[in-house]
Amino acid sequence: MPILDKMETCIFCKIINGDVPCDKVYEDDKTLAFLDLNPVARGHTLVIPKKHFETMDEMDEETAAAVIETTQKIARAVLKFNDGYNVNQNNKPEAGQVVPHVHYHIVPRNSGDGLHYCWNKIDLSEKEIDEVKVKIQTFLK
Ligand code: AMP
Ligand code: ZN
Repeated sequence: MPILDKMETCIFCKIINGDVPCDKVYEDDKTLAFLDLNPVARGHTLVIPKKHFETMDEMDEETAAAVIETTQKIARAVLKFNDGYNVNQNNKPEAGQVVPHVHYHIVPRNSGDGLHYCWNKIDLSEKEIDEVKVKIQTFLK
């Protein structure tokens, strides 16, 4: 689908354009931060670039830097009234991405909040570790 069509159907682009309301907490020329509609914690915030990119790897450097800067700003604010926070960032449906516009979740954390990742550790042999390491290094070139 061409990028302009994607932007027309994208819920986060609609929020940026003001066509869909949001609980905005911060905005600058490149980024927007607003409360998640289905929070898993009080203050669960999403940070998005104003330019439409689907996944984190697609962003240009300037946009990526701006998004990280805003994520840090939100994180520092959240830390003033919480014990910690998680930054979660899903890319592609197989990784749990529902909205195909890059977004960083900032989830405030507190002791005993009952939130946890359900990521199970896997065991890899030395051979498998070497293989996957070489694969990543090869694709980095
Ligand atoms: P993900 O699974 O990483 O794609 O997360 C998408 C997030 O966007 C979910 O946590 C949704 O609750 C949130 N979301 C979807 N639509 C809206 C909206 N209109 N305003 C605020 N948050 C939204
Ligand atoms: Zn979009």
